[in-house]
Amino acid sequence: MDDFTTNPFDDDKLHEECGVIGVYGAEGAAAICALGLHALQHRGQEAAGITSFDGKEFHTHRAMGHVAGNFDSDGVMARLKGEVGIGHNRYATTGETALRNVQPLFAELASGGFAICHNGNISNAIKLRKDLVRRGSIFQSTSDTEVIIHLVATSTYRTLLDKFIDALKQVEGAYSLLCLTGEGMIACRDPLGVRPLVLGRLNDAYIVASETVALDVVGATFLRSVEPGELIVITARGLRSLRPFGVVRPRPCIFEHVYFSRPDSVVDGRSVYQVRKQIGVELARESPVEADMVVPVPDSGTPAAIGFAQAAGIPFELGIIRSHYVGRTFIQPGDQIRNLGVKLKHNANRALIDGKKIVLIDDSIVRGTTSLKIVQMLRDAGAEEVHMRIASPPTRHSCYYGVDTPERSKLLAANMDVERMREYIKVDSLAFLSIDGLYRALGEDMRDDAAPQHCDACFTGDYPTRLTDQEDFEVPDQLSMLAERMI
Ligand code: SF4
Repeated sequence: MDDFTTNPFDDDKLHEECGVIGVYGAEGAAAICALGLHALQHRGQEAAGITSFDGKEFHTHRAMGHVAGNFDSDGVMARLKGEVGIGHNRYATTGETALRNVQPLFAELASGGFAICHNGNISNAIKLRKDLVRRGSIFQSTSDTEVIIHLVATSTYRTLLDKFIDALKQVEGAYSLLCLTGEGMIACRDPLGVRPLVLGRLNDAYIVASETVALDVVGATFLRSVEPGELIVITARGLRSLRPFGVVRPRPCIFEHVYFSRPDSVVDGRSVYQVRKQIGVELARESPVEADMVVPVPDSGTPAAIGFAQAAGIPFELGIIRSHYVGRTFIQPGDQIRNLGVKLKHNANRALIDGKKIVLIDDSIVRGTTSLKIVQMLRDAGAEEVHMRIASPPTRHSCYYGVDTPERSKLLAANMDVERMREYIKVDSLAFLSIDGLYRALGEDMRDDAAPQHCDACFTGDYPTRLTDQEDFEVPDQLSMLAERMI
């Protein structure tokens, strides 16, 4: 059942687990948060929450479901008073989608109220949690983010900021964090900068968000990316930037450019749309094919397909039409209906593709189930040949940095070589972009194997941090997916 909650029937994609936004110094901060979260809905669709501060009290509304449904009532918005607020979208596929895990999380610490929301995953959260529980901490959720609250609460440093830095120094993994205190807002990106975070300005207010689209939607100006390892403190005295973690070579997530971020976002100084188009150019250079048309799997394959078509001189056509009205489940399907699922979301444009040789472009292959159905759909509609080109290298490894990946045994590329995948998906040819091709699309000469410029672990298995919980415990990929019996 859980698989149906976000994308009914079949949703063979990796998923971001979260998007965050914080607003400091704007009237109706919660409304700006809600609009920003709406623009970030693609990063998490299970639940959304906002905490605001009105100078005296904190106000929180958290609920399962989409942003539009959670913040559409005047009563809810009227309760979220104040000129400061943080908000969060959450994605999770396991049963642990209970309200108590929905962020922002809030605690009354010795120093006062403290709200926090987090995009990423703490890869030593289970170890830290066990240590904290042994020392008497009582957890309210199974969210890895709550570990940070307890580390702050138990730190022996004097000021809240020092306690927070002390907490983060014990944490491994990926985090783009926003915190709200009685003093102001804190934003922090982990030293490797795995997950994105940007800073913007709306008149006198500051906005910090996962992607620039959250700034665009409220007419805010993009100032810059929050730097990897940077901690920003915004109070009535202004904005302060700190570097408490030392400097290491950043390794931002390369998959943000392939799929996660919206194409109209700018991630770490690069237009996501332009990178995706360039990926298509690289793919056409590496794996050319004679065909009548280039067809994207909409919407995620579209920019790469445009780049491929332009580079190859083959017409770009919308050979598959996507329904924009497939949202949350409206019926609970049995197996028989579930197998029809892909047609609910995509339909072949038969008049266009009948008798034609097609280059089919998708961003990635995860389990391969959707690819199999889409190829069959094109064949049923009369396609003479289907040549599949994938705008990333084979996804062979799980992500431990805040992206919901199926376990390795379910990743098609972890179990088959390219030729076997071609047979399985039933295409005439299949090719993936090389890892160096992906780096070239990002403006690099190639991947620097000695010091990679990005996290690309789901393609290469080269994880940029220790994976303490994976090494020490037999557990699911991420704490957010841990059943209570494990605690
Ligand atoms: S493992 Fe893949 S999805 Fe996860 S952070 Fe690294 S590049 Fe991104």
